[in-house]
Amino acid sequence: MEATRRRTPHSANGKRAEEEEQTAQWGRAWEVDWFSLIGVIGLLCFAPFIVFYFVMACDQYQCSISQPLFELFRGDATLLSIWARAPSFTWTAAKIYAIWVAFQVFLYMCVPDFTHKFIPGYVGGVQDGARTPAGLINKYEINGLQCWLITHALWFLNAQYFHWFSPTIIFDNWIPLMWCMNILGYTVSTFAFIKAHYFPTNSEDCKFTGNVFYNYMMGIEFNPRIGQWFDFKLFFNGRPGIVAWTLINLSYMAKQQELYGHVTNSMILVNLLQAIYVLDFFWNEAWYLKTIDICHDHFGWYLGWGDCVWLPYLYTLQGLYLVYHPVQLSDAHALAVLLLGLVGYYIFRSTNHQKDLFRRTEGACTIWGRKPSYIECTYHSADGGLHHSKLMISGFWGVARHFNYTGDLMGSLAYCAACGFGHILPYFYIVYMTILLVHRCVRDEHRCSSKYGKDWKRYTDAVPYRLIPGVF
Ligand code: NDP
Repeated sequence: MEATRRRTPHSANGKRAEEEEQTAQWGRAWEVDWFSLIGVIGLLCFAPFIVFYFVMACDQYQCSISQPLFELFRGDATLLSIWARAPSFTWTAAKIYAIWVAFQVFLYMCVPDFTHKFIPGYVGGVQDGARTPAGLINKYEINGLQCWLITHALWFLNAQYFHWFSPTIIFDNWIPLMWCMNILGYTVSTFAFIKAHYFPTNSEDCKFTGNVFYNYMMGIEFNPRIGQWFDFKLFFNGRPGIVAWTLINLSYMAKQQELYGHVTNSMILVNLLQAIYVLDFFWNEAWYLKTIDICHDHFGWYLGWGDCVWLPYLYTLQGLYLVYHPVQLSDAHALAVLLLGLVGYYIFRSTNHQKDLFRRTEGACTIWGRKPSYIECTYHSADGGLHHSKLMISGFWGVARHFNYTGDLMGSLAYCAACGFGHILPYFYIVYMTILLVHRCVRDEHRCSSKYGKDWKRYTDAVPYRLIPGVF
């Protein structure tokens, strides 16, 4: 079966110069200014150390992020002494990680989705992605939910019956595993960079900015693939990182049980709320094909290394913290966290669902019991074709332009608040998510404004706030 197909333009408007100006900006077409370049180089150099710092602070300083700095300042420690105390690479961790990644590749490539045949409402199997700037529509094998279910079933079977390995295996090898994940993250990003130059999957969808650091970090190829079906974005975005997320949390929970003889309600909350988020991701994997990561971002270090290292380490900091600080929340606190998490999740999911429904039915649906209002837009794709689109101004999309991010942020805050108020480290996640999603807002709006021109202006006039009505 063909894994991609090319769409013909709907029509042409005949205004060549205007078209070229617009199409040149379509997709992820940022000029590399000095500010961006400094940020890119800074991230390439320091991001691995940020991850190391947090994990090392838990391992050596009971999750205090100020203590290592004080010791360095007072001269009680040096960078080298801190580095030397951290566990290093081990072949055991390398074996665990190699088996893990190989197993996920096997599930992704060799087990076509069968869950959609018996789970009502679930969309799996071969699905179309969004149209790329060059006009291609890629096909994807959506089997993430199945991979997640098989992996977790095996995890529980092992914990209950087989006992091939301890459920604390991830925690016990956490820092050695970090080196392995870095090796994979850098290998994948470098491979994608070289591939884009010498054997791109689709050269028309490549974007070279002329700056090597920017190209390496933000990616050149749009949808790099090996063969017809091994799609780098889908695989690395979803698995092994997001499948691992819930297993990592389970490993932390098992460690709490092993160390203290019980599991705290905060640990249960973190496991529960994050599991809902992860399951939601896989349940909606087909929808995910239409999100910015797949639709607009190119595949470089930002996605490759980010998915292999940043996500598994920094998205799971709350559980790690709770192993070192087993916080037992009062009932009121636990209930407040649960409510915040569930309301955040509801807003996040409903907002995304509303847009999906609206776009799928081209507006022929009901949102909050009414026919949705929208703004008609036109734009040009890279092949010069004129296309039509609609921007909804009803439901949550009429409350703010990115209310799905607001819901996501509420959920993120709930994970952090589950850890109590003893330390700042577990709150890193909400700080990071706020930066990520605000930056994403700006990036997305820059792109939408280039894409839709004055139609976008009409939309922002109708819905003036981005995240919080009346504030931002
Ligand atoms: P969105 O799902 O919000 O998609 C933005 C796109 O939707 C725009 O580019 C535009 O695309 C279209 N659009 C914008 N406004 C409207 C409207 N009013 N009506 C119809 N379509 C509109 O963004 P993301 O892909 O960034 O996010 C998807 C979800 O993933 C979010 O809920 C986010 O919170 C979550 N997320 C989570 C991350 C994490 O690390 N936990 C990271 C990133 C995202 P078009 O060109 O088609 O018009």
